[in-house]
Formats: sequence, structure tokens, C-alpha cells
Amino acid sequence: MDDILLKPIGIVHSDTDDALKKMPLGGEKAIIEVFPDYHEALQGIEENSHIWVLAWFHKAERDILKIVPKKVNPDFPEYGVFALRAFNRPNPIGMCLAALERVEGNLLHVSGLDAIGGTPVLDIKPYFEKDIVFSPKTSYIKGKDRAMRYEFIFEQAMVHHGEDCRDLYLASRMAAIAEDELGKLNDEALTVAVKGSSCLADCIQGITKARLANPARFTYENSEGPGETQWGKNNMAITLKAKRKFSREEVKELSDKQLFTISK
Ligand SMILES: [Zn+2]
Repeated sequence: MDDILLKPIGIVHSDTDDALKKMPLGGEKAIIEVFPDYHEALQGIEENSHIWVLAWFHKAERDILKIVPKKVNPDFPEYGVFALRAFNRPNPIGMCLAALERVEGNLLHVSGLDAIGGTPVLDIKPYFEKDIVFSPKTSYIKGKDRAMRYEFIFEQAMVHHGEDCRDLYLASRMAAIAEDELGKLNDEALTVAVKGSSCLADCIQGITKARLANPARFTYENSEGPGETQWGKNNMAITLKAKRKFSREEVKELSDKQLFTISK
């Protein structure tokens, strides 16, 4: 088959210039400069809050087919690069969902972009509602330590709930404990019952992707109390009861035992 010729339509400007060492897993703020030849192609783009950015990872190695997802967990086994979003791959096309914060002429100000400064951009497409798969089946690449696992969980809760509220932190702390005990939280076999605020329930649902039906994994009882979650998977169960209403700072800083009554 013939080779395919691609022409960059723009370039990334960012303070980060070393992808492997500095790029946080959730990406970061950057500016995409779209070249003058393609300026017209931006018409209407400002109506979107999120865009898919397809970029060319120009510093990638192209002869790597299997890799250990080291950034997440150096102790994990190898995966094929098509089963990961590894940077190194035969055609190093970066695919990133970025938030479009503002458009200034041919400059797109974005956040959550995982491409370093100088990366050529191949294409930009809007993110649509139908792009979401609420409860997908995915590989479970467990973060190497609690802090990283908490960060993943918090990010999912934030994407779903969209509000930086106290119960976002409470839900994330509860879920991190449940994950240590029960493993993957969006597993079909995992059920969760929430008693507390609607924010707590919403965040737990965002983290676990547990639905009310088909399969029925999620139940919720509204309550004025400080918050309680019951988790079950196969023959294991764990209940976490917040000891009282904590402030956001307390939820961030106190230990599991200071925050919760834990029963298994
Ligand atoms: Zn909230």
C-alpha cells in the first residue's frame, strides 16, 4: 500500500517540551496555533467546549509494539501499544480530548492537552454528546500508589460532576479505599449503595459508572447525614461511614480512619 502524506495544520505551544518526563497524565494548558492556510476551517469552532486534537508525536519511537505502562505502574506486565495510549507506536498519532477555553483568531487556548510544545497538529474535530460511552469495559491498569489512584478517581469524579464541591473529595476518598479492597470500580460485578447528598451520589456514579438498571449496580438514598457508601463485589463487601461532616480541607488531609468508620 502507498504511504500516506499528511500536512500539519498547526502546532502546539506549551511550556512543556519533554513529554516523557514532565507531561502530567491529565495533560495541561496549551495554545494550538492553526496555520493561516487553514484559518477558515475554524469557523464555528468556538461553539464547542471540547475538541478532539489529533497530533503527530514527532519525538516518538515508531518500532515499539509492546510496552509496560510505566508512568501509571512500573510493576505492570507489557501491553501491546494498540491496547494502550502509549506515546511510542508505529504511527505516533496523538488523540486527545481537550477543553477549548477560548478562541483568539487562529489561536485555540486549550486545557488537558497531552502534547508537548512543538508538536505538529494534524486535525481538530468537535466532541459530541454521542461520543460518551457511560460504562465501557476497559483494561484495569492500577496506579502504582494510593496518591496516583486517588488522582485518577478524583479526575473521573470531576469530569462527571463538574463542580469542585466538598462531596467530590469525600466520594474520591471513599472510592480510593473501596478500590484498594475490591479492585476495579467500574467492574460489572461491583455494586454500590450511597446514602447522603445528591453531590455524593453523583460523584460516586461518575467514578464507578454504576447505573440504576441494566445492570442494576447503583442505589441511592437521599439523607442529611455526613455520607455513607456500601460497596460489594463477588463475596466481598465494605461499608464506609463518614464520622461527621468534614470540611474540604479535612477530607483532603485526615487519614482514612479519622474520616470513616470502616466495616468489612
Ligand atoms: Zn457538588
